Amino acid sequence: MFGSPPSCLVVDDSAVVRKVARRILEAHGFAVEEANNGAVALESCHRHLPDVVLLDWNMPVMNGIEFLKALRQEYGPDRPLVVFCTTESEIRFIEEAIANGAQEFIMKPFDEEILMGKFAQIGMGA
Ligand SMILES: [Mg+2]
Repeated sequence: MFGSPPSCLVVDDSAVVRKVARRILEAHGFAVEEANNGAVALESCHRHLPDVVLLDWNMPVMNGIEFLKALRQEYGPDRPLVVFCTTESEIRFIEEAIANGAQEFIMKPFDEEILMGKFAQIGMGA
């Protein structure tokens, strides 16, 4: 009721993943923006810096780690929070993502319990 709702930028080249994440996050009171690659996500951040970014790894144009590096270079290590989103086969990338400034990660496919549980861990449990 007071102040603006928490905001989340969902970055994934899969429209299905974006739709699932949006549905969950909006049900928990988040304002949601979507981007289908890192370059679009960076433009979105320039318009409005979200509280948290849900970030896919493998995307065309600009992938997750490229976006993460650019984001941290521009905005520093703390904000926005970044939850890195990966598949079983991409698990080797987690260490690199954390080293480059992601706060947390979740495995795909995720559900409401997994996503909101992880957000709660980083203080974004709206
Ligand atoms: Mg992808």
